[in-house]
Amino acid sequence: MSDPRPQESETQPKLPKSLFPHQTPAAASSSTAPKDDDVPAGMTKLPNGVILDKDGKPCRLCTSAASWRALTKQAKSQTAAGTAPAATASNASASAPAPSPMQAQCPPDVEELGRSTWTFLHSLTAAYPAKASPEQQSEMRSFLSLFSRLYPCWVCAEDFRTWMAEPSGRNAPRLSGRADFGTWMCEAHNEVNRKLGKKEFDCRFWEERWRTGWKDGSCD
Ligand SMILES: Cc1cc2nc3c(=O)[nH]c(=O)nc-3n(C[C@H](O)[C@H](O)[C@H](O)COP(=O)(O)OP(=O)(O)OC[C@H]3O[C@@H](n4cnc5c(N)ncnc54)[C@H](O)[C@@H]3O)c2cc1C
Repeated sequence: MSDPRPQESETQPKLPKSLFPHQTPAAASSSTAPKDDDVPAGMTKLPNGVILDKDGKPCRLCTSAASWRALTKQAKSQTAAGTAPAATASNASASAPAPSPMQAQCPPDVEELGRSTWTFLHSLTAAYPAKASPEQQSEMRSFLSLFSRLYPCWVCAEDFRTWMAEPSGRNAPRLSGRADFGTWMCEAHNEVNRKLGKKEFDCRFWEERWRTGWKDGSCD
């Protein structure tokens, strides 16, 4: 019987081999594709926001859907033309079409993966005991350590690990009970919010958001 799993060529845009030779994983790990000024003559720039995997291929789970669509569009047009285009810069959100309803059934991008994961992580804190036993704390510590290694957006995981391991120890998981753990998770989420330029969440309200519902009754 043949292997039902999609082959690599089905999960990655079909990029001409020499399309993005200047983009090493090291360059991508800092965040996104290089600026126009950094692109050497004769090379092609990736659309803004495309993150490479450690093997140098575009990382779908690390990239927004808009940037991914811009990448596949770019690759298709270059394949059709048979040559690298003269214009290299592209703004993903401006050039990519809006997602169709069918795309709800597509693999997640970095944002959908993130939203789903935060729902899971905050729910984990909501279900945590008010006072955790040493064993419960140890299990959660192990989970967080594994999670921070296995999270599929590898740049996100790396930054999360670095944040948790801050040398002073001030970002180490606080696991004595629900209140501590919920607030710690809120702070972890705020760290990512800050990095992405988003508004911080007021951690006094994490429990209303994720456990009890808002006091105004809007979730009842
Ligand atoms: C561990 C981790 C690391 C990530 N790192 C990156 C990254 O490096 N780059 C990247 O592009 N994306 C990253 N993401 C994804 C990113 O955090 C968002 O999930 C994504 O951008 C979608 O954002 P959003 O605005 O829909 O809301 P989200 O940030 O996903 O938040 C979902 C909901 O949580 C609530 N909320 C927001 N902040 C808090 C908080 N501090 N405490 C409690 N509740 C809160 C709000 O109600 C919000 O609507 C990461 C996700 C995770 C889980």
